Amino acid sequence: MTLTQSSGIPDAVAAARGSFERGLTRSLSARRRQLRALGAMLTENESAFEAALWKDLRKNRAEAQLTEISIVLAEINHALRHLRQWARPTRVPVPLVLMPARARLVPEPLGVVLVIAPWNYPVLLLLSPLVGALAAGNTAVVKPSELAPATSSLIARLVPSYFPDGAVQTVEGGVPETTELLAQRFDHIVFTGSGTVGRIVMRAAAEQLTPVTLELGGKSPAWFDDSADIAVAARRLAWAKFTNAGQTCIAPDYIMTTPDQVPALVDALGTAIADMWGRDPRASCTYGRIVNDRQFDRLVGYLTGVDPAVGGTYDRTERYFSPTVVTLPATDRPAVGPDAAHPVLQEEIFGPILPILPVASAEQAVQVINGWDKPLALYVFSSAPGIRRLFEEETSSGAVVYNAALIHAAATGLPFGGVGASGMGAYHGSYSWRTFSHLKPVLEKPLKPDSLRLIQPPFGKLGTALAQHLMRRA
Ligand code: NAD
Repeated sequence: MTLTQSSGIPDAVAAARGSFERGLTRSLSARRRQLRALGAMLTENESAFEAALWKDLRKNRAEAQLTEISIVLAEINHALRHLRQWARPTRVPVPLVLMPARARLVPEPLGVVLVIAPWNYPVLLLLSPLVGALAAGNTAVVKPSELAPATSSLIARLVPSYFPDGAVQTVEGGVPETTELLAQRFDHIVFTGSGTVGRIVMRAAAEQLTPVTLELGGKSPAWFDDSADIAVAARRLAWAKFTNAGQTCIAPDYIMTTPDQVPALVDALGTAIADMWGRDPRASCTYGRIVNDRQFDRLVGYLTGVDPAVGGTYDRTERYFSPTVVTLPATDRPAVGPDAAHPVLQEEIFGPILPILPVASAEQAVQVINGWDKPLALYVFSSAPGIRRLFEEETSSGAVVYNAALIHAAATGLPFGGVGASGMGAYHGSYSWRTFSHLKPVLEKPLKPDSLRLIQPPFGKLGTALAQHLMRRA
């Protein structure tokens, strides 16, 4: 079903552009007003958001707050606190040869930003980029995921009353609607989703020369070694993997460790799962469900011919898939990616299956990581400084986290984004503001003294020598 705030997609985009051109979001006070409106939309409808997230993903109240609503509210508060400082022009030194002169960087909004979101964190991943877009003085068109329909229709219903000036427009729908949206002109596009659709978005953006931020996925590895506290490490890994039933872009996709560690790690993961979701996670009100039958069937397929070490049960009627740990056989040449030995290692799992891949050493784990696409996150559970250094220096990923997982996404001071196949560009906190602003260089030069004569013809010998000398000192 398609619902747009205006009568059609071009109208929605035109309305957002009209609001921008009328300057409704430009001044600092206007930006604060928009951010407060977004905050009010969340806080005044908290229970409606919680209910929608339950309906779409069986996300419990605490998780809805901790992993979605509160993070957006924190982003809003952070932006409100820092807006004045971010928006201040910065002085930039001018080279001697151009003196006397003054230069500064003046941040300005880009215009109309398009935000396309996935279904797994349907509030967070739609509204968190919106915070940055509004803080930077833009208007926006937001496209929630059609696969989280309750959240999508709630946002489409609320946005017009919290943004009556039309600065934020919602377009609901799936592929046809997004295709039509992408044919419009925007000043920036933030897309969160799969690499396959990321390529479609980038191709469409190229037609309009629109800059893009792509927040994509991939297989985020975890390394575990014997210097870590196994019970705490396993609990953190299990929490990060099985929250939202494994449907998290930065969930640890697979764990690498040496073969001697595997039995103890499996035991510790089993204990951690039982501690957090009980012996029967299906009965736990804090364990989620798989988003749809297609994803469910894909996950069931991974278990063909596999004897899970933990879990491995599922029920299609309610799309329940238990937290599952799979131990893979050790091989001489462990690998992930299309050439990997097991399907579970060939693509992003995006569900509650956690494979343990035995490797000979940390060096071999580094080879596995470097053998395929750069991951969105890398988690290293080790207290050994040499091992940490090895992973940090010899691999590339969107982020590295030691002895924890997921939590870097809540650190507003850190940019969030991928590298290579896991994405381009970054946002959160001041990085969002930077992503959605243009830093316009402004240079002022007085007409007197006319110092530019030095670099204009006719070139005298002395003047040229002096100009060259000054140029080289820039
Ligand atoms: P998806 O790429 O299928 O869909 C994302 C959005 O694109 C949706 O709004 C959808 O309507 C739209 N879309 C789908 N097909 C399209 C097409 N052919 N043309 C135009 N638009 C289209 O992704 P998803 O299934 O919603 O999410 C899962 C993926 O997203 C995983 O790969 C995951 O790792 C990634 N992800 C990344 C992040 C991040 O922050 N980096 C966060 C969450 C999810």
